[in-house]
Amino acid sequence: MDIKYLKGVGDKRAEAFNKIGINKLKDFLQFIPRTYVSRVTIEEARKKFGETVLVLGKVKWVEKGVKSNHPTTILLEDNTGTVEIPIFGASEFRAKQFLLNENYLFYGKVTEAFKGYNIRLDYRDHLRLNLVDEADKDFLKFNIFPIYELSGTLKATWIKPLMLSKIVFNAFRALIKLNPDLVEESIPESIIKEYDFIPRKKAILRINFPTQYEDIEIARRRLSFEELFYVQLLMALKRKSLQNEIKGIKFITDIKTLTENFTKITEFELTDAQKRVINEIYTDMKSDNIMNRLLQGDVGSGKTIVSIFGMLIALQSGYQSALMCPTEILAEQHFYTISKFIEKFNAAAGTDYKVSLLVGGQKKRLRETILQDIRLGNSNIIIGTHALIQESVEFKNLGFVIIDEQHKFGVMQRAKLKDKGLNPDVLVMTATPIPRTLSLTYYGDLDVSIIDELPKNRIPIKTFLRKEEDKDNIWEFVKEKINEGQQAFIIYPIIDESEKLDLKSAEENYVILKDKVFKEYKVGMVHGRMLWYEIEEAMNDFKSGKINVLVATTVIEVGIDIPNASIMIIEEAQRFGLSQLHQLRGRVGRGAEQSHCILIAKHLDEVSKKRLNTMCETNDGFKISEVDMEIRGPGEFFGTRQSGVLNFILTDLNRDRDILDSARKLAFEIIETDPQMRKPEHASIKKMMLSTYKDAMYLMNIA
Ligand code: ADP
Ligand code: MG
Repeated sequence: MDIKYLKGVGDKRAEAFNKIGINKLKDFLQFIPRTYVSRVTIEEARKKFGETVLVLGKVKWVEKGVKSNHPTTILLEDNTGTVEIPIFGASEFRAKQFLLNENYLFYGKVTEAFKGYNIRLDYRDHLRLNLVDEADKDFLKFNIFPIYELSGTLKATWIKPLMLSKIVFNAFRALIKLNPDLVEESIPESIIKEYDFIPRKKAILRINFPTQYEDIEIARRRLSFEELFYVQLLMALKRKSLQNEIKGIKFITDIKTLTENFTKITEFELTDAQKRVINEIYTDMKSDNIMNRLLQGDVGSGKTIVSIFGMLIALQSGYQSALMCPTEILAEQHFYTISKFIEKFNAAAGTDYKVSLLVGGQKKRLRETILQDIRLGNSNIIIGTHALIQESVEFKNLGFVIIDEQHKFGVMQRAKLKDKGLNPDVLVMTATPIPRTLSLTYYGDLDVSIIDELPKNRIPIKTFLRKEEDKDNIWEFVKEKINEGQQAFIIYPIIDESEKLDLKSAEENYVILKDKVFKEYKVGMVHGRMLWYEIEEAMNDFKSGKINVLVATTVIEVGIDIPNASIMIIEEAQRFGLSQLHQLRGRVGRGAEQSHCILIAKHLDEVSKKRLNTMCETNDGFKISEVDMEIRGPGEFFGTRQSGVLNFILTDLNRDRDILDSARKLAFEIIETDPQMRKPEHASIKKMMLSTYKDAMYLMNIA
């Protein structure tokens, strides 16, 4: 059945549903309520002061506001009492909208409930019902109503919360008529028994239309298990296919000489954690398994040097290495440091390795030359941005792939770079520490290496939270530090680089800082809309000390390494995510001086205060990310790009660790004992996998 024939839908609304991916009746099964609201009698509502409720009754009186800004007041009555419902706005229309003595469902918050008086409802929505209509009667059998998230697309066609609830209800009703089973079971009977789960059909019905509140959690856990179980099954399959099927490159190097040369030219002693991780990478690379490794290490823990060692192993075995970064600034910086390192290495080892940079916006001639170098193998290490995964880029023999700040990339982009080589070893690096539950769910197919120790010469950064009014003092402090020879970043929030308003304010502030506040000093600026060579120039000036203050947006958020910069000022700090603030702060504290980070915040509510205070209390990225996840939830935490494929609707990883653990255990057991899922008891799982998770399997490259 076309959804446009569903009661309450029609052509226009059907179109809006299509836009959000609801094309068939069956697609309504994807809806999960955001919250629930109880239907009560008007007398019961009296005891629910401050709560949001639904009441059903007949409209007895409609009074238009005297002035246009006065509310239209509705009087609604059931057989227990009367409620007054003022509705603001559009009074002409409102006054005519309601028909006397007809039945309406009203949704709102109880704002007055004085004894002896009418109670009052703060209006949210309403719905007209026809009590002789079978569907409407069925709808009213439930006393707990689902409220769904309304996307903008739906709002645009005037679908309101109660209307949406009813449409979903009608869809379920129609589906059950067509097929009393509604859905196929997705997990084996034995597991349902073992974990005491309710059947899938019941869970889907109950989460949408619970008969009592306890139903909701029981249904949610059942569906959450399913969600996690299938993702873990994907992980297990991926692991298995990596282990068995395809063989990777066996890199062959004279490790002793390589280590000697490497140590000779490295200016510092590696930390124990760095040495351990290098060893883990080497062990993977010399075996013929395909390495798939996540390197996690807090900002400034020294991941780059570790990755360079891996690159050298590949180079020494005759393969190319590629390093992909999320921003041009970072690609530039890596190009600069790695080129210098390789120069020294060439001198020490008598090699002739060449490093190339590939970013967008390079001149055509230059670009052609670089592409040719990559294709012919004249370039050994290729560093770049997304430009690396364009079709025109062909490698001679890409053997080792590194993705820096990998949380900034999507699964697809990772896969694309990998596809440029022939089963290359892959190292993805991130400074966003990932709580254990998350790394198991999102990166369950990867091996994990952790650098859990900072270089010894580091002095912990001191962080302070200040108000707008303190700015003069802050600028004085910055000047003092500049006079001592230090350098400062001042960050303005352009979270989304396409935000014109933000850019304008950052640029205006830049002018004030340059011409007034710091007029005796040199001030530069970088933002994401500058061209790469303009950025390069500003960054080089800052690096070489020509500039004292660098005004910047979040383009410098990741990876930038300028040890002499020791002051980090972040304006409107409340607008940044915690992990982002931690990243930004990580730009300082890399040198021998005591570093300072000052967060300037406006309009602090309780949550912002808690977040920003966490920054002042700790430099530990892990703690910060746990707090971040608690406050924002895992979806937000990863941003849309990351969560694309593995989007959890029902799972709350803060609460559902136990479900995750059992789902993971079970999934890995199944794949271990029955990798092809041939056993009859696994048939339903396999079917589900091949239907619902086909795209994910493709993305994860599972054969
Ligand atoms: P991140 O892990 O954030 O990417 P980087 O690799 O950029 O960190 O390293 C940060 C800075 O620390 C660089 O200037 C690097 O040269 C330096 N560094 C790395 N390892 C050590 C070490 N063991 N001792 C001292 N300095 C180090
Ligand atoms: Mg880095």
